[in-house]
Amino acid sequence: MSASEPLIDGHGRLISDLRVSVTDRCNFRCQYCMPAEGLPWLERADVLSFEEIARLVALFASLGVHDLRLTGGEPLVRRDFPRLLAMLAATEGLHEVAITTNGYLLERDAAALVAAGQRAGGAKLRFNVSVDSLQRDRFYALTRRDALAQVLRGLEMLAQFPQAHPIKVNAVALRGFTEDEVPAFVKLARTHPYEVRFIEFMPLDADRAWSSERVLSGAELHALIDALHPLEALEREPSATARVYRFADGRGRIGLISPVSEPFCSDCNRIRLTADGRLRTCLFSLRETDLRGPLRAGADDAELEQIIREAVWLKELKHHIGEQGFTQPERTMSAIGG
Ligand code: SAM
Ligand code: SF4
Repeated sequence: MSASEPLIDGHGRLISDLRVSVTDRCNFRCQYCMPAEGLPWLERADVLSFEEIARLVALFASLGVHDLRLTGGEPLVRRDFPRLLAMLAATEGLHEVAITTNGYLLERDAAALVAAGQRAGGAKLRFNVSVDSLQRDRFYALTRRDALAQVLRGLEMLAQFPQAHPIKVNAVALRGFTEDEVPAFVKLARTHPYEVRFIEFMPLDADRAWSSERVLSGAELHALIDALHPLEALEREPSATARVYRFADGRGRIGLISPVSEPFCSDCNRIRLTADGRLRTCLFSLRETDLRGPLRAGADDAELEQIIREAVWLKELKHHIGEQGFTQPERTMSAIGG
């Protein structure tokens, strides 16, 4: 594939990061994401096949996308996921392939995933493991699964592979819940090779229970953490979602992702592909662009490229959380691919 013009939106932002949801299904029911009874899953025939995902990823890579994140739903519940990872990690032009997982199946899959990432050579494989509480009963209450021990075993299994480091551990920050978790997460970050990152709660939950009062802001978390062990800010990398800090004594790192209180839309370089092949140019997009239809109708790469460029050109300037008239998208986090 020939190198093309870079992918650029109408506000001059260069698009280099693609997040692909490989399934809308999940084995957890986190309160801030899914309803207790789950969601109506996509029909299998509507979900992109491995070959279709690989074709689109290769096309995006030829347009300058160099970071790929595989997410869901829960990516590890997709059958044969390590095989898909191996296919995608071999894509020319990718620098990094990251997986976001709830960790439940990592004990089973960590070795296969690391091997799949390695076989492909080129791209660096990274992992984000979501853990919202380090206490069994509270983990159960939030994820509606009694699975903390299983997730921690998965994390330990992954940590055995030096190639998988540095591992990021992500917690959604909820007012009235996460404050009490801070000391344990700080300890985890200081005693393990994990960068613990707190993500502000966003209005993408299926229960539509989000309210600004439930957002525990990055600034508040910074104050809580800094009071335990002083933090020093590291320089923000361009287009990074997280503000990263190290503990002043050099032991461990913390990341704060504050899309609600300190939006980072102005240099956003991200787009998303849903499991059913729709391109979303913002987490909060109210419009999607179908790529699966044209792909299955036999569109060639030039035709797909045209559709992608037009969609990307219209990428939203920013999200409007907290503003009057903000509309929560119909799809929730698990159906978009966070
Ligand atoms: N199932 C995988 C997991 O939980 O890591 C991948 C998909 S999940 C949708 C991706 C990330 O989005 C997770 O870190 C999750 O905690 C986060 N997330 C889900 N709903 C959220 C919300 N309403 N606000 C902020 N983060 C959310
Ligand atoms: Fe599943 Fe991840 Fe959503 Fe939790 S946050 S319900 S693990 S998709």
